[in-house]
Amino acid sequence: MTTDKKKRGPARRGGARGKSRSAPGADTAEAAETVETASADASSLSLAQAEAAASVSDGGGFTELGLHHVVLRAIADAGYTLPTPIQRQAIPLALKGRDLMGLAQTGTGKTAGFSIPIIERLYGGPHRTRALILTPTRELCQQVEEAFRKYGKHAELSVVSVYGGVGYETQVAALRGGVDVVVATPGRLIDHLEKQNVSFDDLEVLVLDEADRMLDMGFAPQIQRIVATIHPYRQTLLFSATMPPEVEALARKYLRKPMVVQVGRRSAAATTVKHFVYPVPKQRKAELLAELLKQEAMDSVLVFTRTKHGADRVVRHLELVGVNADALHADKTQGQRESALQRFKDGKTRVLVATDIAQRGLDISGISHVINYDVPQQAEDYVHRIGRTGRAAQTGDAYTFMCADEISMVKTIERTINQEIPRISVPGYDFGT
Ligand code: AMP
Repeated sequence: MTTDKKKRGPARRGGARGKSRSAPGADTAEAAETVETASADASSLSLAQAEAAASVSDGGGFTELGLHHVVLRAIADAGYTLPTPIQRQAIPLALKGRDLMGLAQTGTGKTAGFSIPIIERLYGGPHRTRALILTPTRELCQQVEEAFRKYGKHAELSVVSVYGGVGYETQVAALRGGVDVVVATPGRLIDHLEKQNVSFDDLEVLVLDEADRMLDMGFAPQIQRIVATIHPYRQTLLFSATMPPEVEALARKYLRKPMVVQVGRRSAAATTVKHFVYPVPKQRKAELLAELLKQEAMDSVLVFTRTKHGADRVVRHLELVGVNADALHADKTQGQRESALQRFKDGKTRVLVATDIAQRGLDISGISHVINYDVPQQAEDYVHRIGRTGRAAQTGDAYTFMCADEISMVKTIERTINQEIPRISVPGYDFGT
């Protein structure tokens, strides 16, 4: 991306807010569904309406979405041939200027689903901060920033990501220089707002990405403070993997006549993932992990533990048995987290052991296995965790180590994903369930 102001023409407003009354090309029964909610009051946001709504076409490539050639060129450079279902639904609606609620977990292509229409809208416009994307974690910030660079590389737009724990001055310079797109975690952004390093007077599009996770992390007051500085005539896009009442309330507060776009069932786990549960006594989990890692096919394994100490313990155990592993959690510095991720992406470490807080927003392609070393405390976290494998229709396996006091949690997960997870017993390790 460049910031060549001379080539810029007048702003192209997304416009037409509220004019579209139907989903595009509703001719085949795809799993994905679209609905327009009648108004932004409580009843209008019900998922029952969304689920009963019209479906959209699954035919056609990116060219049929009416995108500018600079965007199409970047999409071709990325090697994408067909839009994913969420992209097929979200892009035309976002281009019309509609507010959107996207019910899609990570791995569905949702990042391109919102960044592509934003780039399209901003291209050729004035060089001011016109789009803000709020995300829960620094990793997701970086991933969204990368997406804007990737899809916007021919579009002469600038982007900065703003999160805590890294150099402040570069962020200040970019913000004060009137960067086009700001991708931020709420905490650090408030800091910049208070110091008047950034103004949202010209903001046109606000994205709340992984809204459920932002609320889980307690960001509601910060979001409120940030949105209060943005004028109401913006376009607002909200993405969330799940739709608990808190997220619905957030949508009612900030979105105007939103369209709801949804991929699959609300809590559907990625279909390309094969799930298995390994019943195992708690004290033998580390040995079972080492045993499973003897299989060569497990070449790129993401392991989830409940606690930071648990993650460090697993790494120590793996190192003792000669497996290269790194931990990724909130006690690690930004530099440590980045280099751990890079080593894993480069195939230098075979196993990355992460806590839930670190798991969202990681874009690591080619993960062969996800292992829930501890059963997640929330059923929805199971869906997020295994969203790390099977991304963009790759296949992957998800193993869950279940000790006796985790049996009921596994049952809750099975109810949530609406499928029974087959049990695999490894002789000598199981506890006979
Ligand atoms: P996301 O759900 O946004 O985290 O994207 C998941 C992965 O899918 C990323 O690695 C993207 O690069 C990739 N991706 C996004 N859109 C497409 C597409 N239309 N075709 C193939 N891969 C895609």
